[in-house]
Amino acid sequence: MVICFKYNLVCGSFVGVNHHGQSTLLRCSLMKNEEIESFKWLFQCWLRCMGGNAPKGFLTDQCASMKRALEACMPTTVHRWCIWHIMKKIPSKLNGYKGHADIEQEMSQVVWNSHSKDSFDRNWNDFLLNFGLADNKWLSDLYEDHHIWVPIYLDHHFWAGMRSTQRNESMHSFFNKYITRNSSLIQFLKQYDNCLGSREQAERESDAADFHTVIPCATKSSIEAQFQDAYTHAKFREVQAQFRGKANCITRLKNSALGYSVYEVGEQVSSSIFNKFVVTYDSVAVEVKCQCLLFESRGIVCRHALSVLSFKQVSQVSPRYILERWSKKVKRRHTHIKSSHDEPLMEPRSKRFDQLVFRSQNICEFASESEELTAILHRAYDNVMAEMESLKVKRKGTSSLSHEDANLESVNELQSPPRIRTRGHPKNMLGSKLDKQIANATKKKKTKVLSEINLFDAASAVHSNSSQYQGHVMNYQFRVPAAGDNSLGV
Ligand SMILES: [Zn+2]
Repeated sequence: MVICFKYNLVCGSFVGVNHHGQSTLLRCSLMKNEEIESFKWLFQCWLRCMGGNAPKGFLTDQCASMKRALEACMPTTVHRWCIWHIMKKIPSKLNGYKGHADIEQEMSQVVWNSHSKDSFDRNWNDFLLNFGLADNKWLSDLYEDHHIWVPIYLDHHFWAGMRSTQRNESMHSFFNKYITRNSSLIQFLKQYDNCLGSREQAERESDAADFHTVIPCATKSSIEAQFQDAYTHAKFREVQAQFRGKANCITRLKNSALGYSVYEVGEQVSSSIFNKFVVTYDSVAVEVKCQCLLFESRGIVCRHALSVLSFKQVSQVSPRYILERWSKKVKRRHTHIKSSHDEPLMEPRSKRFDQLVFRSQNICEFASESEELTAILHRAYDNVMAEMESLKVKRKGTSSLSHEDANLESVNELQSPPRIRTRGHPKNMLGSKLDKQIANATKKKKTKVLSEINLFDAASAVHSNSSQYQGHVMNYQFRVPAAGDNSLGV
C-alpha cells in the first residue's frame, strides 16, 4: 500500500524538546484532509492520550484551520505561528514590489529587534511607510494577528527555545531520506520507529555524557558554578554563552527605592551600535527581570540580568532561575516504559516495571468502578508505600560498601547508552567513542561517581512524578505532498 502520494494522506508530527534541548518526536498523524473538523478530531485524540493535559504552548505553521481547531479544543494553550514560514512567503506575497530582499531584511529587523510592544508598533508603521506598503492586504492581515507570531507579544510565555517549526523540518528530512512515494505503510511505520529509536539513542548518550563528564566553568562566578552543577551540558553551554555576552554589557543604575532598583544595560552589538535593555532587581523577592525576555521564553538567564547581578555583587541566583526542565538529575518515568526498539535489551528493572504496570492497570480498572472500591485501593496503596519506604530505610541503615557498589552498578546500568539496533539508517559512531570516554572517565573518577549516587537517587525520588513531555511546549506541522515530490510528504 502506498501512502501519501497514492492516497493523498497528510502526515503531521508532534515534536517536543527534552532536557538537553533536543527535539523529541512525540507522535505523528496521517490525515485525509486539513479541514477544521479533522484537526479537532486529531487534537481531541491528542488530549485523550495525554490524560486531558493540554500543552502550555503550541507552535504551528500559519494555518487557519489549525488555529480554529486549537481555539476550540485547547482554549488555555498559547498558540504561536512559525515566523520562518511567514518570512518565507514574502517573495510570493510581495512579488509586485521592488526589492523584496530589502523588504524581508527590514521586516525581519522590526520583528526580531523590537523590545517593547510600543516600539514594535512604531517600527512596523515606519517600515510600511518606507517601502510604500501601507495598503498591502497581506501585511495588514499579518499585523491584525501580531499576537500570534511577533516575539514581543509571545516571549513572556515559555517556549523551551522553540520559535519556528524547523525542528519538524529536520524530522521530516530524516523521514524523507528513507521513504519514497512508493513506500508502503509498513515501511513508513518502521522508519517512524527508527526515528524514535535514534532520538532515544541521542538522549541516552547525552544523559551518559552529562553524568560522567563535567564542563569546566569559564569564570570564577559562583552563579556559573550553580548552573554547572544543575544543568545538562547543552543548557550549561547556553548559560556560558550568556556569561561571555556579559562582557559586552555596561550597567547603569537609573533609580532605586525600597530595595527595588531599575537599571539600564547597554549592550554593544557592533563597533558603533549599543542596544539598551531595562532590567529590574528586587532585593526583597530576589527577583531579576530583563526586558529581552530570554529567561521567560527560553529558561536561560540573560547576559543583561547577569550583568546586573554582577553589579549588585549577588553571589547566588534564586532557585527559581534554575529550571528542573534543564536539569541533568531528572530521571523520567517513561525511561521504564518499553518501546518496540528496545525490547530485546529489556533490563530487569524495566521488566519488573512492565509487569507491575500490567497488574496495576487491571486493579485500577476494577477499583475505578465506584468511589468505595477506589477508597479501598487508595488505603492499600498508602499501606504498601509505608511498608516499602520502611524497608528502604532499614536497608540504608545496614548499608555497607557492597551496597554502594550495587547502587553504582544499577546507576551505571541505567545511564549507559544501550546499543540500539540500526535498521537502514547510518550507524551512530558517537556511541562507541562515548563508551571509551566513559570507561576512561569512570576509571579515573570512581570516587566522584560514588558521591554523586546519592544526589542522583534523591533527584529521581523527588522528581518521580515529573515528566518532561507532559503539559509542555510542542510544535506541530503538516505538509501536503506536492505533485512531483519524490518523497513522502512528511
Ligand atoms: Zn536580557
